[in-house]
Amino acid sequence: MRRPAFIYHPEYGPEIGGHVFPIEKYELTRRRLLDEGDTTPDDWLEPEAATRDQLLLVHTREYLEDLEACRWTPRTRFSEFPLTPEIVRAGVRGAGGTVLACREALERGFAVNCGGGLHHAFADLAAGFCYINDIAVGIRTVQHDLLARRAAVVDCDLHQGNGTARIFQGDDSVFTFSIHQENLYPAKERSDWDIGLEDDAGDDRYLHELGRALPRLFELARPELVVYQAGADPYEDDQLGCLGITRAGLRERDRLVLGECARRGVPCAVTFGGGYARRPADTVAIHVSTCRTVLEVAGHGRAAGAPETETAPG
Ligand SMILES: [Zn+2]
Repeated sequence: MRRPAFIYHPEYGPEIGGHVFPIEKYELTRRRLLDEGDTTPDDWLEPEAATRDQLLLVHTREYLEDLEACRWTPRTRFSEFPLTPEIVRAGVRGAGGTVLACREALERGFAVNCGGGLHHAFADLAAGFCYINDIAVGIRTVQHDLLARRAAVVDCDLHQGNGTARIFQGDDSVFTFSIHQENLYPAKERSDWDIGLEDDAGDDRYLHELGRALPRLFELARPELVVYQAGADPYEDDQLGCLGITRAGLRERDRLVLGECARRGVPCAVTFGGGYARRPADTVAIHVSTCRTVLEVAGHGRAAGAPETETAPG
């Protein structure tokens, strides 16, 4: 299998003020993957911003005009992020990143957008920390370009992928799956398949449910492309929830999802999603680990005997 593509742009990290979202995680993850020898500069691609036409495959014109004008309206007011030109640009660039990840995955087998996964955004409504639903823009764009017909979203963020679920409701070409903590934000939408877990579910229960679901999910969805939302927030030391998954459990989660894609020969585009660990370095380490698992599953992991650096300094 060809080497996976890694996608990043400096615009992913706008100024957001003091905020629980560690926006610097994108750049820090990229830095570690370069500094620790997992990737070389040749592995990295910079995306174009998503075009207006691509955004309109998912979002309404009125909503996009609100974002461009940075206007608080009934459509934007539920955002929990500031609304600045720089932050809107980050969302549009991040959607371009997921578009590129979908295209590169279809060529190479795997690609990672080191950003995106902003699954709470609806067609005409901002929600949580999400303005542009990059997952939906990526899928609709490759469908529009006739690169893939059927797709599946495998959303393993702590929170339900409510925006994605709603956007693809009634669309038989896209199967939405979400495994999340039930008793938590957001108000739930109906995915094609939801697994809402109890508080403190822990590794064994989480991995059992996910492992049991994946083969059936691929049979039901028959996808030509998977978009994997690899949120870091199911982590046991996350500030926004208590699903209680360890770092080792999250690594196993990634192996299950990515391994199932590899075994079945289904291309997979990975996005980052949430992550609010008490120590921001833990969130970065979880994203780094996901990227390493992508390399490993694609057959480009570290040579045997190479040191595995699990703990970030700081
Ligand atoms: Zn989340």
